[in-house]
Amino acid sequence: MKAIRGATTVERDSPEFIKKAVGELLAEIGRKNNLLSDDIVCAIFSSTSDIRSYYPAKAAREAGFYRCPLFSALEPPIKGSLARCIRVLILAECDSAVHVYMNEAVALRGDIAARFNIAIDGPAGSGKSTVADILAKRFGVLHLDTGAMYRACALKCIRDGVSVNDESAVAAMVENIDLKIEYAGGAQKTVLDGKDVSAGIRRSDVSMAASLVSTYGAVREKMVALQRQFAAENSCILDGRDIGTNVLPDARFKFFLTASPEVRAQRRWKEDYAKGSKEPYRQILEDMKRRDMQDSTRAIAPLKAAADAIVLDTSNMNIDEVVSIMERRIQEKI
Ligand code: C5P
Repeated sequence: MKAIRGATTVERDSPEFIKKAVGELLAEIGRKNNLLSDDIVCAIFSSTSDIRSYYPAKAAREAGFYRCPLFSALEPPIKGSLARCIRVLILAECDSAVHVYMNEAVALRGDIAARFNIAIDGPAGSGKSTVADILAKRFGVLHLDTGAMYRACALKCIRDGVSVNDESAVAAMVENIDLKIEYAGGAQKTVLDGKDVSAGIRRSDVSMAASLVSTYGAVREKMVALQRQFAAENSCILDGRDIGTNVLPDARFKFFLTASPEVRAQRRWKEDYAKGSKEPYRQILEDMKRRDMQDSTRAIAPLKAAADAIVLDTSNMNIDEVVSIMERRIQEKI
């Protein structure tokens, strides 16, 4: 069972305004959480003391909440509280709990109304990209996989015959790189020179090359500037190696996922095998260890947990467990 919160405000304390606002709030909660009426166990409303003309619970009945128990309470007058605000807590049998804040009530949750930045860092195979995808869908925000950007830089070098060992040549290449991040149905598309390279950047030669070019100052500067711009313009989840420490040091939520190299290599092997790759486990493990070493010992923005990050060792957890811990930690803080 999930607890879903919502709030809205009304312009006037009149039955018409209250019925309309409650109807819209409940419809939006239903839509965002894919709720059917049988899923709803109960709904508890509270309203600020300047709402007297109609019970929100009655408005909910009229809006179609026929079967579940409903309850309304009046809040005491609190100095500085929002005017004419109706809040609801819905308990429902569903998978997600996307909270909904409408009208002036969005101001209640500055983190949601303004920016919702979550930093997830960790080594390859720690599960950060998978959980970032799930959390982004649950919270209705975008997920930026920053590793894809370093991979695109590496792919560009390989394609254009720029040696990844030649730092100044790579720096010159990255200066004018035509790299864009687009979204189709919520999924990230990495677009290099006008073409979708989302599949090509996953090759293992690109992984090793990405780990090398990402040690270069010019590459990091360019990518970090793009990532910060993205985070300033969107509520989003960024996953990478240096998000909590360097890209978004003020991110409201920071996580660092880790797992033993063997478990991570096993996960990557399974994923790749399912896609038809024949790369042996031993090779994947070795590459991963080399990449870990390169990523965590480089001079600029090495892979490490931010001091204020929540560190989760996912070695013995499945994805659902990791997601539910992260979701709980986020909800607790909101
Ligand atoms: O996460 P992924 O394995 O796709 O990243 C590819 C490489 O890009 C990493 O090995 C790392 O060297 C680099 N990277 C980085 N900083 C980030 C994300 C990825 O240096 N924020």
